Amino acid sequence: MAVDSLAAKARNISTNISAHYVDNARNLPWRVPPAQSRLGKLPDPYHVWLSEIMLQQTTVGAVKSYFKKFVQRWPSVHDLADAEEADVLAAWAGLGYYARARNLHKCAVQVSKNAKGIFPKKESELLQLPGVGAYTAAAIAAIAFGERAVVVDANIERLVARLFAIDTPLPKGKSEIRYKMDLVTPGEDAGDFAQACMDIGASICTAKKPKCEICPVQMDCTARRLDRAEEFPVKPSRKQKPVRKARFFWVEEKGKLLLSTRADKGMLAGMRCLPDDNWSARQDGNAEPPIAANWVVFENVIQHIFTHFSVEVDLAVYRGEKIVTNNDDNIWWPLEQIEQAGLPTLYAKAVRWMVKKKQEDET
Ligand code: SF4
Repeated sequence: MAVDSLAAKARNISTNISAHYVDNARNLPWRVPPAQSRLGKLPDPYHVWLSEIMLQQTTVGAVKSYFKKFVQRWPSVHDLADAEEADVLAAWAGLGYYARARNLHKCAVQVSKNAKGIFPKKESELLQLPGVGAYTAAAIAAIAFGERAVVVDANIERLVARLFAIDTPLPKGKSEIRYKMDLVTPGEDAGDFAQACMDIGASICTAKKPKCEICPVQMDCTARRLDRAEEFPVKPSRKQKPVRKARFFWVEEKGKLLLSTRADKGMLAGMRCLPDDNWSARQDGNAEPPIAANWVVFENVIQHIFTHFSVEVDLAVYRGEKIVTNNDDNIWWPLEQIEQAGLPTLYAKAVRWMVKKKQEDET
């Protein structure tokens, strides 16, 4: 494509996406509506940062309620910094990728103590904060501070790959996608523009069956013209994910369940959990129970998929005498209040499986 026509295409895309946002922006709790942002009102950087960390690898639908819960409980970055890490991890339970929650707390402490609660404006400075990568730094700079930054999340990646029919497979194609996003990003209101692109990617230029007929940039979309929209972005060939084996141990006494704590390092570090057999992302667990006794093992009761591997879980149920535990990491938790224990999703799934089984056995 000639330079002139590429520039003209980029201008059209930029104008049409920005115009579309005015009447079609999603109403999200961390956003300022376009009518107000046009008058210069910017969202609270604490809200933008919190939402962007939560949105890493999690959907908007899942994040909304967590975001509301967090800002209600910790209305400012100082409040979050003063919280116990264990409480932040428990409140995060269910969102997954717990390293994000630990970095969230670390970052809050850093901004609260070292910068009097003021987030930096520049992408390069934001990048120095714990848990803030290239995408998040660009999104915060653009959305919270109105800086011109090139924001590329998964939705934008798909939208841009289609607009320009970029056929280099990911991840190699990312640099070209970023270059094209840079071309279409306007000098002003880059935050609204990025959010407009996210919205179109999420609700119109969807992975399956994109709604090209209502798309504001359909006239400038090469993938649509070629009738190949669903082929972009071009994915790398898939590798089989490894499957890990884990065993959890169910010890219940007088309506209380024995809980433990994961080690300080590695998968789900520091999280409350059912006692387990030290499984990890790298290796199967050793299947060894915490004490020698009569255990009844139910095999493969749940499966859980992480980004790079999946795990199959056996659940071993204690059938011995009254158990004595001297392990400081163990606590007895009322089974009726197990939802408040903040268990990671796969442990919560195992608990739900066992509770259901007990109910079925009783009927
Ligand atoms: Fe996506 Fe279709 Fe719009 Fe192209 S025209 S950007 S493929 S929704």
